[in-house]
Amino acid sequence: MPEQRLRIAIQKKGRLSDDTVKLLKACGVKVNLNTQRLIAHSENMPIDILRVRDDDIPGLVMDGVVDLGFIGQNVLEEESMMRKVANEPTSHKVVKELAFGDCRFSIAVDNDFDYQGVQSLANLRIATTYVHILKRFMEEANVPYTSCMLTGSVEVAPRAGLADAICDLVSTGATLEANGLKEVEVIYRSTAVLMQRDEPLTGEKQELVDRILTRIDGVQTAKE
Ligand code: ATP
Ligand code: ZN
Repeated sequence: MPEQRLRIAIQKKGRLSDDTVKLLKACGVKVNLNTQRLIAHSENMPIDILRVRDDDIPGLVMDGVVDLGFIGQNVLEEESMMRKVANEPTSHKVVKELAFGDCRFSIAVDNDFDYQGVQSLANLRIATTYVHILKRFMEEANVPYTSCMLTGSVEVAPRAGLADAICDLVSTGATLEANGLKEVEVIYRSTAVLMQRDEPLTGEKQELVDRILTRIDGVQTAKE
């Protein structure tokens, strides 16, 4: 029997969580998230909310484990590239761009680094979380480099002597400034999106998704 309830993956804890939960509420989805449970059942709609690390969300949608996922484009892009290399399924649909989660993915170097353009990065070690997005940029720029993959504390890597430069997510630039770094290249711009699994949903489920999408439009235009 096919799963009857619509499954939606959201970030459990982090920068996207509050805005995602707020948006679901504004769409009329009632759900109690005041527990530590992995799955929360909506009280008023046939919807289950799966709360996970953001990194797991694109794969859960691409593997058809969940129907929808709220995710940053940067994470979706990185996972897509990683899966292409590994020959794993990547198909999905981006069904809505969302009005939160805006950030840029930028290369930054020490304040006193004499930066003359992307060639100044030649043969340096660059610390980042999203190695594939960085790799694409550096290959297109034709600049050889080595990468150092860190899933956290990327901004302290230069000071800690782990890397010569970093490539990290930036919104205000305050974190870079606090670590004595300056932003020198913006290589990707990201916002949060709603992604859907590629295989068709049952009629009822798709109707529910369409209703949610219409409500998101209503909420987002009201805010403009
Ligand atoms: P998780 O524990 O779920 O893996 P995380 O540490 O990878 O969390 P967060 O820092 O919560 O991720 O960021 C989630 C997403 O928020 C980012 O992937 C990005 O799309 C978006 N974002 C918006 N502004 C920023 C910012 N200034 N720094 C980092 N991420 C940002
Ligand atoms: Zn993450």
